Amino acid sequence: DATYLSDFHQHRAEQDPDGRCWTYLDRTWTWAQAWDDVRRFAGALQAEGITRGDRIAFLDKNNPAILMATQASCLLGSANAIVNWRLAGDELDYVINDAGARILFVGHELVPTIDLIRDRLVGVERVVVVGGEHDELDAFLASAEPVGRQPGVEPSDVCLVMYSSGTTGRPKGVMLTQHNMVEHTRNAKGDVEYGPDDTMLVAMPMFHVGGSSYALFGPATGTHGYIIREVDPTLLAGAMAAGVTHAFLVPAVVAGLLQAGPQAMQLFSRLKVFSYGAAPMPLPVLRGALEHWPTTQFMQVYGMTEMGGVVTILDDAAHRDEDHPERLVSAGRPIPGVELRVVDVATLRDVEPGQAGELWWRTEQNTVGYLGRPDATAELLQDGGWLRSGDIGRVDDGGFVFIEDRVKDMIITGGENVYSPEVERVLAEHPAVLETAVIGVPDDTWGESVKAVVAFRPEHQIDPQELIDYARERLAHYKAPKSVDVVEALPRNPSGKILKRDLRKGYWPQDG
Ligand code: ATP
Ligand code: MG
Repeated sequence: DATYLSDFHQHRAEQDPDGRCWTYLDRTWTWAQAWDDVRRFAGALQAEGITRGDRIAFLDKNNPAILMATQASCLLGSANAIVNWRLAGDELDYVINDAGARILFVGHELVPTIDLIRDRLVGVERVVVVGGEHDELDAFLASAEPVGRQPGVEPSDVCLVMYSSGTTGRPKGVMLTQHNMVEHTRNAKGDVEYGPDDTMLVAMPMFHVGGSSYALFGPATGTHGYIIREVDPTLLAGAMAAGVTHAFLVPAVVAGLLQAGPQAMQLFSRLKVFSYGAAPMPLPVLRGALEHWPTTQFMQVYGMTEMGGVVTILDDAAHRDEDHPERLVSAGRPIPGVELRVVDVATLRDVEPGQAGELWWRTEQNTVGYLGRPDATAELLQDGGWLRSGDIGRVDDGGFVFIEDRVKDMIITGGENVYSPEVERVLAEHPAVLETAVIGVPDDTWGESVKAVVAFRPEHQIDPQELIDYARERLAHYKAPKSVDVVEALPRNPSGKILKRDLRKGYWPQDG
């Protein structure tokens, strides 16, 4: 039973000290060794003057030290802001300054990037290099006395600052408390089995909530974590060969695996549990996965940074429910500890059952707000503890939630609402289509009209008109694209999300 987020790890170290905690590169930590490192990390931060309410930042590809830094922050009542290492110079100093970090940990490959912007990082008192030939982390830890949880630390203290993906605007620093993450870890595990004989693949970036919160199921369940620096075919294959049983990947990566050929598919057939989510899963990809990995349990998750990760799960049984094949495109049902309202964005009243509206959530997982952004926080957090997700969805009579679109991506054409993913799903079924994004573009008659931006398979190029006809046979006329633009690839962010605001930029006078 955990009250503080660090309790999970501490209990493992006490109960199963010699069990496997993490494997990374060529090293495996036992629970006791990892916990000792966490306590040293806390001691080292304390020696640098970090106390309750302070923040540190971590800029590195996946590395167990990022997880140690989070756990150490829990002991001190400080917070770890994990920064997206793919950001470019300007964005990077924006985020690090926004986080208000006093100490910055930097992966060795990223040192040249930081050197370029170091003079703009005004609040950073010290930079510690992690890994590589000039590693400073080992010495930082070795010099420290291990410490435990400090007096005055509360479960309501912020322990993580996670930046949202920046799909709809600049990333926002989401403050997550120890209590938020304890609740998430309890609620979001699903009904699948994890245990000391299992190994979970920690591959998704820890700078996104998906990567960081998934890793926490390790200490919560006693499961060994196999950490890879990033999603890379060679690293993935190595992890699978090392005996990974549980994985969480995003749909774009699953699609890549299915295209990578029989060898990759064979490796992944060993998985007991395959979780995916964070973006819409194209139906053909999901069907392919179910067909190629028949003995694997599938689990889709939906959630957002602002709720510490997951709030709905489509479990394995629902993936195989032949009476309800339509639910394959749903995000499943709310997990325990989570309440849902579907709200009309114009009237702010609940919609009729089955109708679409904005999803509002109430759960102990809900963030306490965006760091330094009271205005955005006030928009997000409503009276009565409800969080406005910005996602449009509907709930069927079995309680299954269908994510229709983002409020910001919905297209209004001639007064009709068009949910872009519904159109994307139809287009994705055409054999020539590799990937597609549907957006609204200005139209003098209709206000907006539906445009599809499409990448065709290299070996299967068609006349765009053929795709429009295809859509018209399968969708209401107003939903079918009026125009199609062909591109080689769609712009995506590191979590595999298509950046529609970048696509729209070419068509609107300013960002729509
Ligand atoms: P920003 O808030 O900065 O614009 P973002 O919303 O993409 O970026 P995240 O918190 O990483 O940042 O992502 C949460 C969003 O991802 C959800 O609001 C939803 O739109 C989408 N999403 C997550 N899981 C799923 C899923 N299983 N199916 C469809 N969409 C999903
Ligand atoms: Mg968001």
